[in-house]
This record gives sequence, structure tokens and C-alpha cells, in this order.
Amino acid sequence: MTMETDDNMGLSTKCVHSGIKDYEFGPVIPPIYQTSTFKFKDAEQGARLFKGEEHGYIYTRMLNPTVEAMENAIAELEGGAYSIGCASGMAAIALIFFTLTKSGDHVICGKSIYGATSSFLLQTLTKFGVESTFVDTSNINEIENALRENTKIIFFETPANPTLTVSDIQQIANLAHLYGAKVVVDNTFMSPILQRPLELGADIVVHSMTKFINGHADVVAGIVVLKNADDYPTFRKMSNLIGGVIDPFNAFLVHRGVKTLEIRMKKHCENSLKIATYLEAHPKVERVFYPYLRSHPQYELSLAQTKGGGGVISFELKGGFEAGKTLMNNVKIWQLAVSLGGVESLIQHPASMTHASMDEELRAEAGIKDGLVRLSVGIEDVDDLIWGLEQGLKRI
Ligand SMILES: *Cc1c(COP(=O)(O)O)cnc(C)c1O
Repeated sequence: MTMETDDNMGLSTKCVHSGIKDYEFGPVIPPIYQTSTFKFKDAEQGARLFKGEEHGYIYTRMLNPTVEAMENAIAELEGGAYSIGCASGMAAIALIFFTLTKSGDHVICGKSIYGATSSFLLQTLTKFGVESTFVDTSNINEIENALRENTKIIFFETPANPTLTVSDIQQIANLAHLYGAKVVVDNTFMSPILQRPLELGADIVVHSMTKFINGHADVVAGIVVLKNADDYPTFRKMSNLIGGVIDPFNAFLVHRGVKTLEIRMKKHCENSLKIATYLEAHPKVERVFYPYLRSHPQYELSLAQTKGGGGVISFELKGGFEAGKTLMNNVKIWQLAVSLGGVESLIQHPASMTHASMDEELRAEAGIKDGLVRLSVGIEDVDDLIWGLEQGLKRI
């Protein structure tokens, strides 16, 4: 019998069971269908599959059962109608803009944003005649002033990368829908465990599953989750034309990661709040950014909109860039690496690393100072993580 999950079930139950169906031989886990193509029973079935009159599989770029199982799991966790697995978070972001915009359209994007997202809008989408305006999406007036008749998408991260600025999804969705624009939330930092943007009015959620959803730093993958079933055919068609799809093995790994997503997120949040509190009291630290600290400018909104502060902390050291370098070269346990959302703790410097590709002016406007350090807090024992940071901080 198939384990059916429904909306009344808890998130941990959904993480373990979502997307799982019956397969030949009764495996508990969806098999890895490592095949590029699928044979038809006869010419008539082939024709039916191509016409879309029968659900089934033709070619792995179009649909694959292992990929589909993972897609169903994520759609269920986010409360969406469908989702489309992609080769990376950037492939998922590109898929959204290529599907929803055409020459002459306009996009509003959050100022504090993943570096490659801003570069994609400024360097790639402009080539196709789509213009972008970058605003602080935590300020609804800035969005309203930027809205135009041809605005098709309002795209933002909340909490945003790397400043952890929080934007009000519901308020933005209400405004966007008055203007006929779609709201797209990059939910990478929260995962569906901590924040469900579709329930707050967003139309589309995108994830870099490379981060928390897979959670083990061994896969690059992305996903687009659609609230409305009506959007699905055009998105699936564009995914098939661009071809940036996730492969069956990576989909299998991501689906395996999802099983522990809820317990991992709990531990990420628990460790992060303790570390943020420790850093805030530290004499070498100027400022700490973490949505569940009372000092965060949108603390109340964070509590209302999310179920936890997540696993990313940013902070400014009193000694600027030099102090940052000393810290990064002397910490223990924390590994000097970009990316985030894995079980292991990482430390990095946005101005020279993840956000180096971002336009310099835009970076300054987004509040990404040269001395800003970003932590991705893992699931190790928090006392060890604090000890590891102290080994670096005391050398400053
Ligand atoms: C990593 C990241 C991306 C890009 O995802 P890839 O899987 O690296 O392509 C997009 N948005 C956010 C918030 C990210 O952290």
C-alpha cells in the first residue's frame, strides 16, 4: 500500500514519506531509474504519451520517475501544485525568468541577493530586453515606487543573502497582485520547514537544493515550486527546451536528504541562536545579523513569518577586513568554504567570495561591508563550534 501523506500530517512525517509510491518489487525507497530513455509498449502508447493523454515516461530530460518522486516530495512540503527539478539553483532561477518574461518586460529584484542571481539579471536577461530594478524589498514603499505596468516578477530572498534582511511576503504579494506581477521567493535559507511562502501569497518558490534541502554538501541542484497547476505545462516545456534538468542520481540523493530535513533544521536553528547570542556579547564583534536575535530590525516579522531563524549568521568584526582574515585563518572545526546548509559548519567572507561577482555599488548599497563574515552553522555540538570560533577570535 502506498503511504499517503496529507495536509494534516506533521512536517517530519511528510519529510519521511512525501513523494514515495509503489514500485515493482516493493522497495521502500524510490529506485534510481538511471536510464536516458523509456520504451513504449507499442506505437499507440508512444503516441498517447507524446500527446499527454497518458501519464508516463518518454525521455529523462522530459520526466524521470526518480526525479518525479523527489519533485512530488518538495511540492508537498512547500504546499505547491507541482515542482520542477533543475541541475542547480541557478538553473531553476534561469528557468523562472525564461518562462515568465519576454522582451520589453520589467523585473523587480531584492538588493541583497545571491551574487549570481544579480549577475544573471544584469548580464544575461538584459540581452533579451528584460530590465531589472533592484530595491530593498524590506521596504514596501521602495517596491511600490519601482512597480511599472510591465513589471512581471518581484523576486527576493527572505532572509536575504548575506545580510539576513527579512521581507514581508504577504504584504509584497498583496501589492504585486494588484499590479498583476508574480511573486517569486528564493526560500533557500529557510527550507519549507521554517517558511512556506506559497501559503503567504507567493506564486512561486525557488530553492538551491544544494543547501539545506539536500543538506550534505554532496549535490548541486535546484527546484522551482509552482502554486498554481496552470503554470505547470509552460514551465515543464521550458525546462525541456533549456535542458537544465536534475539527473536521477542527484534527485535520489536530494530525496534521501529530505528525510532528515526537519530534524536538521531544528538543530541548525538551535545552534545558530546560541552562536549568534555568543557573538553579540563578544568584545571583538561589532554587529551580528540573525533574524531571531531581538536586535534584528525585523525580529517581530521573523517570528510571525517563520518557524526559526535558520542556519546562517552574518557578523561584522571590529577590525574590518584584516580581522576577518585572522579569524578565517585561525578558526578550528569551521571550514573556510562558500556554500551553506550542510551538516558541517562553514565560514566565509562575502565581499571577496560569494558576492565578489556582484556589482560593487550594488554590494555597498546592499550593506555587504568588507569586514562582513558569514557563517553556515552545522549540526555539530554547539560547545565545540563556539570553542572553534573562540580560537580565531582570540587571535584578533
Ligand atoms: C546557492 C544559492 C543559489 C544558487 O544555487 P546553486 O545551486 O549554487 O546554483 C541561489 N540562491 C541562494 C539564496 C543561494 O544560497
